[in-house]
Amino acid sequence: MKVRADIVELLRADVPHLRIARQLGVSRETVRATHRALGLPVRVRGGRPAHTSPEDAYRAHAEPGTDGHVRWTGYTDGSLPIVFHSSQHTPAPRIAFRLHHGRAPEGRLTRTCDMPGCVAGGHYADQRIRAANRRADKAFSTIFGSAS
Ligand SMILES: [Zn+2]
Repeated sequence: MKVRADIVELLRADVPHLRIARQLGVSRETVRATHRALGLPVRVRGGRPAHTSPEDAYRAHAEPGTDGHVRWTGYTDGSLPIVFHSSQHTPAPRIAFRLHHGRAPEGRLTRTCDMPGCVAGGHYADQRIRAANRRADKAFSTIFGSAS
């Protein structure tokens, strides 16, 4: 059969069939047929998912570059990289952050590097890190004073 490249791309990013069907306006049967045609591992409801953990699913689509940034090859919602695992979907930076810092991020995550779409765990700051940086800035100006 002839397969659509956009369906293939989303299947390879582990996007659930229903979401692909809705997003591309195709039937779930078309998505299933494409899945079969590609010979991708079958996902049985309640059975073993394609990846054993969200971290595995993240690693499968994260491509570390030589410059320290990590390119995302998986699914994005708008510009936000998304990790699909079991029936859950999580923004990739949250998983990357947890892998890098060994703890869950607090509050909103902001990217600290200048590469759009980068998913390097060390290139994100959460509320706790931002607060610590603000304290450091304050200490800096206390030590060196300000021009005014
Ligand atoms: Zn980066």
